[in-house]
Amino acid sequence: MTADTITAADIRINARWLIPIEPSGIVLEHQAVIIQGSRIAAVLPTEVADREFRTRETIDLPHHVVMPGLINMHGHAAMSLFRGMADDLPLMTWLNDHIWPAESRFISEQFIADGTQLAMAEMLRTGTTTFSDMYFFPETVAQMAHDTGMRAQICFPLLDFPTVWGSGPEEYLSKGEALIDAWKGNDYIMPAIGPHAPYTVSDGPLQKAVALSEKTGARIQIHLHETEFEVADAVEKMGKRPTERLAELGVLGPRTQCVHMTQVSDPDIALLSETGAHVIHCPESNLKLASGLCPAYKLMSRGVNVAIGTDGAASNNDLDLFGEIHTAAMVAKVVANDAAAFSAHEALQGATLNGAKALGRDHELGSLVAGKLADIIAVDLSDPFTQPVYDPASHLVYSNHSRAVSHSWIHGVPQVQDGKLTRIDVPDLMLRVKDWAKQIRQQQAD
Ligand SMILES: [Zn+2]
Repeated sequence: MTADTITAADIRINARWLIPIEPSGIVLEHQAVIIQGSRIAAVLPTEVADREFRTRETIDLPHHVVMPGLINMHGHAAMSLFRGMADDLPLMTWLNDHIWPAESRFISEQFIADGTQLAMAEMLRTGTTTFSDMYFFPETVAQMAHDTGMRAQICFPLLDFPTVWGSGPEEYLSKGEALIDAWKGNDYIMPAIGPHAPYTVSDGPLQKAVALSEKTGARIQIHLHETEFEVADAVEKMGKRPTERLAELGVLGPRTQCVHMTQVSDPDIALLSETGAHVIHCPESNLKLASGLCPAYKLMSRGVNVAIGTDGAASNNDLDLFGEIHTAAMVAKVVANDAAAFSAHEALQGATLNGAKALGRDHELGSLVAGKLADIIAVDLSDPFTQPVYDPASHLVYSNHSRAVSHSWIHGVPQVQDGKLTRIDVPDLMLRVKDWAKQIRQQQAD
């Protein structure tokens, strides 16, 4: 090869192991990832990279596994400020006596900004590069994510009743459409429609949500079949299961993400797979609130795309997606009564490419393939708790190690370097978090 075939690029990452996710189920060794601007220019063996590329910067990761950044498909970021405030309670007591009163007392734009930044710090440190949010003041969350350089699907809330963010469905939908317009074509921010749940949004607003999704291409994310009570109550009051009702209203489709789905009948599965709706599996929240278990593996075997989310930190209580896939894999095996169900590679794909599919961006996110956006993480496997290494995919899922995330890049920009955040001032953030905690504690004591 002659010198004039050498290509110049920005960053070269030398990885001991690499899990590209596409093709699925493989682990490569001694690979280089070449980044040019915001995109992956090449993924190739290091000795080939030596001959073909010259880069401005080279990062050697000799004990690390490199993979696509994780995609956390469901959460309520700012609720991180309520982490550990009320635990060990049934869902309705937890909501009525603790979460809703605290929300009505404290939610403001500043609360949302500080809580979202706390959540982003945790997600970045534990390997997430894209997250989905559903909470109040979505304009503020979008701006915070954009300014930090995280990719985010921002679901604006849609409910029948007034909240701190709006007077009712009309106002939610008009403010939501303005949010969609404001971020049109942005690489980082994906505004979406967030009807809270079938029991809090009536038919009219749901049909308007579908019309807005058809007009703008925005995704719809909805909590669905979270508990047995939700389904039984709907059958009693409306004579049909929530999935049936949503299908009739045109809500289920390839742009729709159904969060939880712990109660799933065969007709439900048929509706999901026929319509191409996605399921967002949040096993830790379901376990903690005793909501039930989503048969993720059964759904996947019937062709439903299943992505993973942590839910908010008030019901999990962390936003660690590696921890979530560990739980998802363990739970799936018991639910399927099959130890081979939900393998390590399937779990990793659930937290990456399947999330990208649910977002409609699998052509540019979710795997390490030339031409895709450079959202990349590295995990250091040199610590005793991940030794020896026979199969790095096994460690990523079964040996909890999210704090070993050493590096991350989003859009080719470094976000974590040697375990430290590059774009969030953590000491300053901690002062603001302390201040909120003091106020919340005081209210709890009153
Ligand atoms: Zn939720």
